[in-house]
Amino acid sequence: MKPKTHIGLEVHVELKTKSKMFCSCSAQYFGEEPNTHTCPVCLGLPGALPYPNKQAIEWCVKIGLTLNCNIALKSKFDRKNYFYPDLPKGYQISQYDQPFCEKGSIKLSDGKVIGITRVHMEEDTGKLIHETVNNEKVSLIDFNRSSVPLVEIVTEPDFENATQVKEYLQKLQQIVRYLEVSDADMEKGMMRLEPNISISLDGSGKLPNYKVEVKNINSFSFVEKAINYELERQLKELKSGKTPVQETRGWDEKKQQTVSQRIKEEANDYRYFPEPDIPPITWTEEEIEEIRESLPELPDEKIERFIKEYSLPKYDADVLTREKPLADYYEEAINVGRKLSLTPKQIANHLINKKIDIDSVLPAKLVEEISAASKTENINPEELKKVIKQVLMENPQIEADFKKGKENVLQFAIGKVMYIIRKKIDVNVLREFILEELK
Ligand code: ZN
Ligand code: MN
Repeated sequence: MKPKTHIGLEVHVELKTKSKMFCSCSAQYFGEEPNTHTCPVCLGLPGALPYPNKQAIEWCVKIGLTLNCNIALKSKFDRKNYFYPDLPKGYQISQYDQPFCEKGSIKLSDGKVIGITRVHMEEDTGKLIHETVNNEKVSLIDFNRSSVPLVEIVTEPDFENATQVKEYLQKLQQIVRYLEVSDADMEKGMMRLEPNISISLDGSGKLPNYKVEVKNINSFSFVEKAINYELERQLKELKSGKTPVQETRGWDEKKQQTVSQRIKEEANDYRYFPEPDIPPITWTEEEIEEIRESLPELPDEKIERFIKEYSLPKYDADVLTREKPLADYYEEAINVGRKLSLTPKQIANHLINKKIDIDSVLPAKLVEEISAASKTENINPEELKKVIKQVLMENPQIEADFKKGKENVLQFAIGKVMYIIRKKIDVNVLREFILEELK
């Protein structure tokens, strides 16, 4: 029997709300002076009361809805107790047995459906910085990130290989960006990835009695490499009759391998209990429907519409919908382009092949350029050269004036050529052709 791989994923996504999860401190902490976005709540001082961020909870529900989850009409926050210096309260406010969203799914391009176990809301931790100050190794703590809204998205161990994982991650990143709830910038730690990997040698499909987690990866390609490395390492152990150790590993990019970080004998005991300072969160069906209705058109729907409405091939639709601003730009260009009888495909070709920077050219300007270029393409260069030669012969003063340095005469020549050709043509292209003849 063929060995069967089981890969699941935990992804943490930081939301880009204005304020933090349980206090009014600004959540926009990136690049700010350490410990300037803090208050008694996010510093975990005794007696401080958390107050949940409504926007963050709604955004978490939005993510759950796009991942086809059931949304709980009643849920609550729980305390997850553990000790670590970046966690000032000694516990993280998270969700345990009643997450906001459960039992969803997402479909990959090969038809594979990945189960979404849960999507829950929690708070981020502070950040430890290890430095050398005055020749002494010290650890510094910055609490600016403490209590920034964090959504955790957990999948079933349904992935069979690293390629599927990568596609899922790209889709997830695209979704949260389309929803405008997170920038999901991996380099800034706004999206953190933790695959868990195991193999059953007998191919029965039954989950094996061990699982290896790779913690806190911040790049899609590292995830891919870590998974492939683990699959090879675990298979080797299994084939030699050993069971891989249940442990947490990390990806070492320099060594191009995973390294053991912590061996877990049994599940961590977080002593979860309901957060006594926050009442349960309740929704009505109507409220959930309202949120569902506020969802924007999502990437998969957009791709389908682009293919149908604009007769685009799948590849073009994929590229043009990868980022929402590009898709919006494309549709604006189509609208303007209609007046110049440009087809959506012509605009798509130009945008994709010429790798247009959409921040530097307005759609209207781009469409003008495409129109001019397409008209020039329609005139045979030989035909154009013939007309130019004719104009220069019939009007010898053009050449004479040009040689005297009177460049204005080019404008006169352009007019004459246009008059004979009777087609719109890019003036700059025509000028080049005339100059070529005058050399
Ligand atoms: Zn605060
Ligand atoms: Mn978490």
